[in-house]
Amino acid sequence: MDAYEELIRGYKVFRKEYLDSKFEAYRNWASKGQKPKTLIIGCSDSRVNPAILTQAGLGEVFAVNNVANIVPPYEKGLSHHKSLGAAIQYAVNHVGVEHIIVMGHSDCGGIAALMASDDNTPRFDAGEDDYIADWVSILEPAKRAVLENSGGSSREECCRLAEMEGALLSIQNLAGYPWVRQAVAEKSLTLHAWYFHVDSGELLSYRPEEGRFRRLCP
Ligand SMILES: [Zn+2]
Repeated sequence: MDAYEELIRGYKVFRKEYLDSKFEAYRNWASKGQKPKTLIIGCSDSRVNPAILTQAGLGEVFAVNNVANIVPPYEKGLSHHKSLGAAIQYAVNHVGVEHIIVMGHSDCGGIAALMASDDNTPRFDAGEDDYIADWVSILEPAKRAVLENSGGSSREECCRLAEMEGALLSIQNLAGYPWVRQAVAEKSLTLHAWYFHVDSGELLSYRPEEGRFRRLCP
């Protein structure tokens, strides 16, 4: 079946599940607006949809997706990344989310571009892919941290480490947004870093007290 037709087939399943027999319940639920408790900032990668991974229903996750699940540092007034900043601000100040999760993942094309940018076989040519190169360069500090501590590691190992470091750097950047900082200080908001292994399906969370990622469900 054509990919577009497949989407329409899926929507028909949604209609059957949510609208045909439960339309009143659906309309009642929809009229109340959204009150999700969680913002998940994930990669655009089609394999890592957080709502599907967590089996979240409609209205349960406020979502932002971008290449390599990056949160840029806060820039007062003159942000170059207004879209992401607006989503975070709306989620915290107006939706009132209680958790923000930045979810990195294995085999991330954005991180591969970041890590390949200074060797002789770049995966993306910055001339043709200047938007990608510019965007992922936000994670240069994570890349430097990995390369400084990865003596003897393979390219694949460096990429895995950079995927995790990138999520942690994004959490650090997130904490620099004034409204996030305030909500965290008031203990109404908690920040989390997750990492999804695409090949094994394992989901890890960062444990600050241990300084490492561990399985979310041992
Ligand atoms: Zn990715």
